Amino acid sequence: MGTDPKHAEVRIETDILIIGAGGAGMYAAIEAARAGRDVFLVDRSLIGRGGATVMAQMTVAVALGSETPDHWSHHLDDTLEAGRGLCDERLARLLCEEGPHCIREMDAWGVGWARKDGRITQAFAPGHDRPRCTYVDFLNTGPAVSKTLRGVVTRTKNIRKAGDLFVIDLVRADDEVVGAVALHLPTGAPVTIAAKATIVATGGLTRLYRRNSASSNMGGDGYALALRAGAPLIDMEFVQFFPIGHLAPRLIGMDPIMWDPFRYKLGGKLFNRDGEEFTARYGVSEDGRYVTTRDVATYAIVKEVEAGRGSPHGGAYLSFQHCSETELRSAFGPVIDRLAKNDIDLTKMPVEVAPIAHYHMGGVIADERMETEVPGLLVAGEAVGGASGANRLSGNAITEALVFGRRAGLSGAERAKEITKHAFDPRAARATLDLLAGCTRRKDVNTAAMIAKLQATMADGVGPFRTEAKLKRALTAIEDMTATVGDRAIGSGGPFDLELLDWFDLRNMLAVARTVTVAALARKESRGAHQREDFPGMLPQWRLNQQARLGADGIALTPVPVATQAAAQ
Ligand SMILES: Cc1cc2nc3c(=O)[nH]c(=O)nc-3n(C[C@H](O)[C@H](O)[C@H](O)COP(=O)(O)OP(=O)(O)OC[C@H]3O[C@@H](n4cnc5c(N)ncnc54)[C@H](O)[C@@H]3O)c2cc1C
Repeated sequence: MGTDPKHAEVRIETDILIIGAGGAGMYAAIEAARAGRDVFLVDRSLIGRGGATVMAQMTVAVALGSETPDHWSHHLDDTLEAGRGLCDERLARLLCEEGPHCIREMDAWGVGWARKDGRITQAFAPGHDRPRCTYVDFLNTGPAVSKTLRGVVTRTKNIRKAGDLFVIDLVRADDEVVGAVALHLPTGAPVTIAAKATIVATGGLTRLYRRNSASSNMGGDGYALALRAGAPLIDMEFVQFFPIGHLAPRLIGMDPIMWDPFRYKLGGKLFNRDGEEFTARYGVSEDGRYVTTRDVATYAIVKEVEAGRGSPHGGAYLSFQHCSETELRSAFGPVIDRLAKNDIDLTKMPVEVAPIAHYHMGGVIADERMETEVPGLLVAGEAVGGASGANRLSGNAITEALVFGRRAGLSGAERAKEITKHAFDPRAARATLDLLAGCTRRKDVNTAAMIAKLQATMADGVGPFRTEAKLKRALTAIEDMTATVGDRAIGSGGPFDLELLDWFDLRNMLAVARTVTVAALARKESRGAHQREDFPGMLPQWRLNQQARLGADGIALTPVPVATQAAAQ
């Protein structure tokens, strides 16, 4: 039982609580601390090593114009075009306009952006009208971004850090968020954190799917935390599938989306099992270049597989056999040796690739200050919804993490400065503390198996191509699982209690899966990453966003007009 006296509650006070130490959380922490506030930066994993940022491989899109003339307005045009009419234009503009500042600041902090003749060099990526993507060679962008931010966080005064601290619920008092309740995983101790401003920077939700590029911490916690705290979400139906996730042969110790940088640099060819280059059948002729956007490539591969023209493991072939070993080595040096250790010689063989869940366009609704509808609650990074609309442009996610993180840190600091006294009310934390204390073992529910079942349900019913029948089946399964999981925590409450962790993960994952499914059922058209086989094509009357709230009867959706730049003026 979780009522053991060794689990005495730990209490912490801070100006600003930041939940999640990826790119967004760390940038927010640095900015808030520079503004003179005390920051408590927490992560359920290790600080700066837990989420997507450290896994991201290559591209950071930003209109630096260092090699080719560019302006943020061109980047914005491409972002809006990729978003298929649904981007929150205010957020998209912020991302594009402030991206260069963050990238230059990262440069000054020593991230090591690749350079040619002294200038930061920029690669071309699909959907961009010119070379616009900075990177750190070889496949090292995310690790370098994380390492740089970790270094600055460590050197910055006023930032306290805690890893292995899993935030379970936000705490509200007088309709404001005033902090959170967390579980200290190594000891099982409950922790309450009183904060004048709370920033959710928990990343995305791709762990909901069987095949994904995620770490195990990306089950959509932030969306669930925000929903339960009363903040609405937007665009939850838009999950981006990365078209060329690695499928076969077995690849150990390398990232499943590692083929993207190869494609940026060398093009590469996509073939079906009959040896045909098939993207032209879906409207894009590649001719060895990498020009097919993610949604179109996902569609093309899935349709080829359905038509019986897929590769043996159910995807497509990706081939670099037209490139010489010298070209491959000069583009990817040490990576070629790592592939050789996996018995992959790209000059002699293609690899098999297939779509995997990769990024979430939806998320918590925020204004340009990254403030949500609930006072005291801010959001940053992939947890924010709306900037990418129905489809994200390549390379925009890290830029978003940095820009929105910086903004959230600034706004949180301003708010905290105005507040003289903590409004944390221990009574408001009681329900979550009781949930932790009341955990019990149950033999009839295997929480780990249920996570796998939910991932299969989402992959089969709420994947890249959807129908009403599939979505309804998925929703019924999610409701059944929610009933089975129940509202009493399962576990012993001891140190590193993985069963308890799985139960809390399921609690969040089921809530978020339900929101994605309900929104996908409601959107009766196909747009960007949301493809309904029973409603093909974009419809002008669906050029609107869907807001989702947690109500007494479950998830309630409201259609709202798309936020334009004009609305911001
Ligand atoms: C394999 C991969 C490759 C990618 N490549 C690129 C790329 O090349 N270019 C690009 O622009 N984008 C890329 N992306 C997307 C991009 O990396 C992410 O969108 C971005 O890094 C998200 O940053 P973030 O700070 O919002 O979240 P994350 O970096 O995911 O950090 C979130 C943090 O929150 C923590 N957390 C979650 N829930 C809780 C909780 N309840 N309590 C405490 N802590 C919590 C997690 O442990 C994690 O450390 C890639 C993503 C992946 C997975």
